[in-house]
Amino acid sequence: MSKILNDYLSANLKELKDNGLYNEINVVKGANGPKINIDDKELINLSSNNYLGLATDETLKKAAKETIDTHGVGAGAVRTINGTLDVHVELEETLAKFKGTEAAVAFQSGFNCNMAAIQAVMNKEDAILSDELNHASIIDGCRLSRAKIIRVNHSDMDDLRQKAKEAVESGKYKKVMYITDGVFSMDGDVAKLPEIVEIAKEFDLITYVDDAHGSGVMGKGAGTVKHFGLEKDVDIQMGTLSKAIGVVGGYVAGTQELIDYLKVAARPFLFSTSLTPGDTKAINEAVKMLMSSTELHDQLWDNGDYLKNGLKALGFDIGNSETPITPCIIGDEKTTQEFSKRLMEEGVYAKSIVFPTVPRGTGRVRNMPMASHTKEMLDEALKIYEKVGKELKVIS
Ligand code: PMP
Repeated sequence: MSKILNDYLSANLKELKDNGLYNEINVVKGANGPKINIDDKELINLSSNNYLGLATDETLKKAAKETIDTHGVGAGAVRTINGTLDVHVELEETLAKFKGTEAAVAFQSGFNCNMAAIQAVMNKEDAILSDELNHASIIDGCRLSRAKIIRVNHSDMDDLRQKAKEAVESGKYKKVMYITDGVFSMDGDVAKLPEIVEIAKEFDLITYVDDAHGSGVMGKGAGTVKHFGLEKDVDIQMGTLSKAIGVVGGYVAGTQELIDYLKVAARPFLFSTSLTPGDTKAINEAVKMLMSSTELHDQLWDNGDYLKNGLKALGFDIGNSETPITPCIIGDEKTTQEFSKRLMEEGVYAKSIVFPTVPRGTGRVRNMPMASHTKEMLDEALKIYEKVGKELKVIS
């Protein structure tokens, strides 16, 4: 074993631990539902992206099992060789209808979508304006493209207009893109898409929205772009199939030409094996379910409002959340981690989120209620929040 590598790893791990930045990973026994089992203890789960409870839905499970029987467990190849199965094509037709676009393509993960689509469309002669709070996969996708990356202050439309004007008028770039999360996962706030689209039209920007946390949650389930009725204005819609949709994978949706191009230029499409058939069929069932009923979506928002109002009434700082994602902003990293640890000891699983995921000094415990939580579970969680909040003097 290399001594240089050992020294490097030890020094970095020590620094993270000394600064309270080392996240312990818990192992969940069984399903990821409204309650979860960790270390043989049942906890109220406020840490899951399984927003609608679909990860354990019986219809989806049945669809996956039946498809495993007919298609096997693996797709067997990348899409361009013989890994494009009938179930992939069926799913992509469903996704295009769901997103209100001409076409869609599915990838193995949301992360892969951002590795795929940004790099396929943008290159070193271009510039990308990127919201400073965008997800890590957007940041990495932008870096891979080798385009000039210009950070834009979070949801600051004056800053966007100014930087778009400078980039376009400089004449240095062939194309300029603005890329943003639809729903920001650390604060639960929503991108100002109507203003973004207006600025994009003014400066001929390409618009790209990562709706990982908006699909199934915003727009009666159809996402943030549909919420604002901007399906014809946003050039590239991307999202994950692993959060509200409950399975795994990601999609990119847009014009037929965009999707045709991604199928010949996006490296994770060309060089990574496609989604498993069982997962693909389960996703298709989930999306069809969301298109036919808003029941789960409505339940999620009802629970989100209930938890949010309860935490606010207790005196917690819940920031600017506009969605069921509700942070409790605590600030200092060590207190944030202690808070989450105490919640867990008392029966609530809500993870601490600290630097580098969020800026230093803005540590928070993030709560993500699910459609499948009962009011009794949420009341119990609030009681525990009150106890730990007073104990650690986060509330008085
Ligand atoms: N984009 C955003 C905004 C996300 O929050 C995530 C997941 N944390 C991803 C992309 C990646 O999605 P996946 O988990 O499907 O890879």
